Amino acid sequence: MVANVLVAGAGVAGLAAAIELSRCGHMVTVLDKSAQNDLAYPWKDCICREQTERLTGKTLDQAFVHKYENTFYCSPFGGTRLLSDRSQVSFFLFDRRELHRMLLECAEENGVSFCFEAAVTEPIFTANRVIGVRTQGKSWLADLVVDALGVNSPLRRRLPKLFGIERDYGEDDVFYAYRAYFRKRKNVSQPEVPFATYLLHNGEKGLSWVNTEEELVDVLVGRTEPMTPAKLRRALDSLMRSNPIIGDDVIADGFGVIPIRRPLKKFVCDGYAAIGDSAYMTYPFSGSGIDLSMDAAHILGECVKNSAAFGEMISEQCLLNYQNTYLSVYGASLTADDLLKRQMLRTNPRALEHFFRCGLITQAAFEGGSQATTPSQILKSLMYPLSLAHLGLAGAKGNRLKRNAQ
Ligand SMILES: Cc1cc2nc3c(=O)[nH]c(=O)nc-3n(C[C@H](O)[C@H](O)[C@H](O)COP(=O)(O)OP(=O)(O)OC[C@H]3O[C@@H](n4cnc5c(N)ncnc54)[C@H](O)[C@@H]3O)c2cc1C
Repeated sequence: MVANVLVAGAGVAGLAAAIELSRCGHMVTVLDKSAQNDLAYPWKDCICREQTERLTGKTLDQAFVHKYENTFYCSPFGGTRLLSDRSQVSFFLFDRRELHRMLLECAEENGVSFCFEAAVTEPIFTANRVIGVRTQGKSWLADLVVDALGVNSPLRRRLPKLFGIERDYGEDDVFYAYRAYFRKRKNVSQPEVPFATYLLHNGEKGLSWVNTEEELVDVLVGRTEPMTPAKLRRALDSLMRSNPIIGDDVIADGFGVIPIRRPLKKFVCDGYAAIGDSAYMTYPFSGSGIDLSMDAAHILGECVKNSAAFGEMISEQCLLNYQNTYLSVYGASLTADDLLKRQMLRTNPRALEHFFRCGLITQAAFEGGSQATTPSQILKSLMYPLSLAHLGLAGAKGNRLKRNAQ
């Protein structure tokens, strides 16, 4: 039997879910608040080539393969920089708008219908199941609602408590990110190491990066609290001072919210499944939300395909297979990264600056063998010296207190 599936949100997660579920033979409609031309951001993302090719059935051009640039990891106030050699690792960098175009095309080829400029306001539910969604002025009924509305999903937030799904995120769970491509300043020579990441930049909770590409400079400022214009200006001014290659002209920019926490423990109930950023499927600090969303969509498609009967397919029981398979593959590593991130964010930035300066944190933390190529691997290797340094500080404070008491 064919199910009527509503996918709320036409981001990567929503489009991937729509493609997978329509391939299972279901009638899929995607709703998004934006106009079709306003979907996606004007920047390039690091994505898994195989995953994207499997989903779209298209071969991606070799031209998008890049080598990682060596990276400087900088102390919060810029006093010390340590080099991470990533020159042997390659990755796939793809234009986000092009990725969206491909996914939309693929969804249309599979018979998915779209309704743009339709802002979803809340779920429609009975005592024990979700049966649809409301947009302004219209109710949409469905056998299954896939919530791909991103971090601030109004669907997840308005589910009744008794469905058991955590509705809100807490402190340090998301990054408020600003990303911009600046034109390079003329007559300034190319930096010797093109990528610089600033940990707890300017003493604030979060990080910033500057990546000098061939023609442009890619700048990101990410903080765990919403950024005021003044705060953003301060961060950009400080990055511009230490990186004179950043020119004044912004070619493209945008704001986004990125989950940096463990995934939801429960993200399904009868008639409802969350996916992508709505269920926090992103590695804290290192991202990969695109790959994880595509994989989650594949798992969802497989679970729906393998369920024996229609009623079973849209039941919490079947959807729990999707949830539990996802969590068994990714849950432990996402949760471990969440803990490491919390340790880093709780470090006093002045203490971190000191740990860098006095050599408690050394180059080795950023090398971690040749394996430490992603921010989360680096975070892991940073934790040991960081914990030792914390212990050292606690010991010194204890001795001081003892001396004062004598
Ligand atoms: C600055 C930045 C850089 C990133 N870099 C990378 C990277 O390099 N690699 C990577 O893998 N991931 C990256 N990510 C993360 C990645 O974009 C996401 O994890 C991934 O795309 C999954 O997002 P999503 O589809 O779940 O949510 P979103 O992309 O947030 O999509 C949600 C969709 O729902 C729509 N919507 C929201 N509210 C409503 C509503 N009320 N009604 C109707 N529609 C609504 C929105 O218009 C949007 O289209 C980055 C994210 C940001 C912000």
